[in-house]
Amino acid sequence: MNNELMQLYQQLIIDHGTRPRNFGEIQPCSHHQEGYNPLCGDKLILYLDIKDQIIQNAMFSGEGCAISMASASMMTGAIKGRHVEEVRTLFDQFHDLMMGEVDETEALGKLSVLEGVKNYPSRIKCATLSWHALKNILDGNKVIAKTE
Ligand code: ZN
Repeated sequence: MNNELMQLYQQLIIDHGTRPRNFGEIQPCSHHQEGYNPLCGDKLILYLDIKDQIIQNAMFSGEGCAISMASASMMTGAIKGRHVEEVRTLFDQFHDLMMGEVDETEALGKLSVLEGVKNYPSRIKCATLSWHALKNILDGNKVIAKTE
């Protein structure tokens, strides 16, 4: 990745981290899930409204570092309006990206800006927190999503 692109990516993360989109609660909602990353102290609640297997709306509340907020902001934007099976695939692709198992995933679009985080192992959990909360909802688990 060249420097210019890297800077653009960082700006996007800072932008989403400081002014997160889809921030707030959905009341009532069909699903909500708490997520906690003890390593960094990030805490969030993910709210989804799922109807006919389609994610009608997705929002989150909570507090955490810029990476966790940016990731949740981008994730909620990416899953809105999608079928749950598509979102499962997206989770796997994002997970692979963070684990360094793929270099670049076109399907992830804007989400791939978080790829740079994989070079900072202690921050990977910040970026994957909201995704773990999402996975818990999709898998029907009621426990708090922890990153470890
Ligand atoms: Zn964090």
